[in-house]
Amino acid sequence: MSTFQDDGLPGCFSGLFKRRKAISKPSPSYYTPSDTKPSLPSANDMKEHSCFSPTCDYSFSNLSQWWISDQSISPPPYTPHSASASSATEDAWKIIDETTDTLDPQLRKLSLQIHDHPEIMFHETYARDVLSAFMGEHGFEVTTGYLGLPTAWKAEYSYGSGGRVVGINSEMDALSGLGHACGHNLIAVSGCGVAIALKAAMEQKNIPGKIVLLGTPAEESGGGKILLLDRGGYKEMDFCLMCHPGPGPSHSFDTGSTSAMQSFEVEYFGQSAHAGAAPWEGTNALDAAFLAYSSISVLRQQIKPTHRIHGIVSGKDWLPNVIPDYSKMRWIVRAPTWPELKVFADKVQNCFKAAALATSCEVKINSEAPYFDLNQNEALAEAFSCVMKERYGMDTSSLGTTASTDFGNISYGKSLSIPLMTDIRAGLAIPTKPNGGNHTPAFAQAAATPEAHAAAMRVTRGLAQLAFRGLQDDTFYAQMKQSFMKSSRSQLEQS
Ligand SMILES: [Zn+2]
Ligand SMILES: [Zn+2]
Repeated sequence: MSTFQDDGLPGCFSGLFKRRKAISKPSPSYYTPSDTKPSLPSANDMKEHSCFSPTCDYSFSNLSQWWISDQSISPPPYTPHSASASSATEDAWKIIDETTDTLDPQLRKLSLQIHDHPEIMFHETYARDVLSAFMGEHGFEVTTGYLGLPTAWKAEYSYGSGGRVVGINSEMDALSGLGHACGHNLIAVSGCGVAIALKAAMEQKNIPGKIVLLGTPAEESGGGKILLLDRGGYKEMDFCLMCHPGPGPSHSFDTGSTSAMQSFEVEYFGQSAHAGAAPWEGTNALDAAFLAYSSISVLRQQIKPTHRIHGIVSGKDWLPNVIPDYSKMRWIVRAPTWPELKVFADKVQNCFKAAALATSCEVKINSEAPYFDLNQNEALAEAFSCVMKERYGMDTSSLGTTASTDFGNISYGKSLSIPLMTDIRAGLAIPTKPNGGNHTPAFAQAAATPEAHAAAMRVTRGLAQLAFRGLQDDTFYAQMKQSFMKSSRSQLEQS
């Protein structure tokens, strides 16, 4: 396996700043679906909170290594031979390549259609319809409105009897006002490509098993995958795959982890009064919000470089000559692991409460469903890195990101009594402008470029090949399982 960059920074303090590894992290094992189950927002909530969507920023910090959009860097040529593949596997990989070649223009068209119809969380009706129809045309059994989520869908296909079940995820949601600034159009069509190419290989190589492709709504906010997880949507899967675009070096991808994340909605309730005539009769809810904001800004000085806290203030009917009787804040707190996040989040909540005490306001704190850090599977990540390097000349990093994903919860499936859940979330680099990473208009433009599509199609091939190996190769599956159990043991020791 080749890597283009080490985990650490140069210098004698490098150990202090070294990023965590993608595996062996403390476990969020005390999570249970019942006590953190998120609820679907109402239509009014979604309208009101439509700007609240900053959870999965995949910005890559090292600008000097970005694949800039005006750089014309040819991809390395395909390498038809893979030293680690058997002849049977090699045949399957050719089938996957040929199928993906055939699908490519259709997937490109679908990707641009979704890009041109951006839909925010739980409103992904257009994407649901075109994607599920496409899968139906390719021989998959399709269910829409899956598990009570109107925009979720499932496309499944079984071949032969028995075999393992592979899960694949197609995200669909966009960002309010920014469109597909996180490139979920690429994830959506990549999931379709993986499933259809894998189906072709299973049929032609006579490998039994089942493919379950999930159309997962509301990744940016709303935790669509967590809802599906809690309702049993991932239960039958033996392993589960997906990709996500972001900036990075040309022709590369990342198999690192993501941060655990907790969102809060904080409301302050006061008393309105004439700000000039009788301000002493009022209780100022806007003051409470600003005090909380200031306290958190002070707290920020004492947090670790790996931690994040960011939020906004909003309200209604605010006038300069009226003491505001209501304010609302939305905050997101992140840390590398769930146990670290719990400690950090308690300190942040103290800031909320202190502001209420200082201003005599009432405070209501609503903790939303947490996103766990990503528990990547070492065996899957290594196999994926090998095939992508040997076959497609793509480089791997394991830097990860301080952003977050609801796929993190899927990667801790073991704690929810699912027999086995192994995951890889391949971050794929697409060319974009400097400082034009995820959640910017520049990234929305980048997600529609032919170069981004080509990068997504390469990762699609690799994920399909990985999935095929997971179905066909018992030894490889045992290695996945061993990695998962090793990771689970490590989590138990640290929790
Ligand atoms: Zn995002
Ligand atoms: Zn995203």
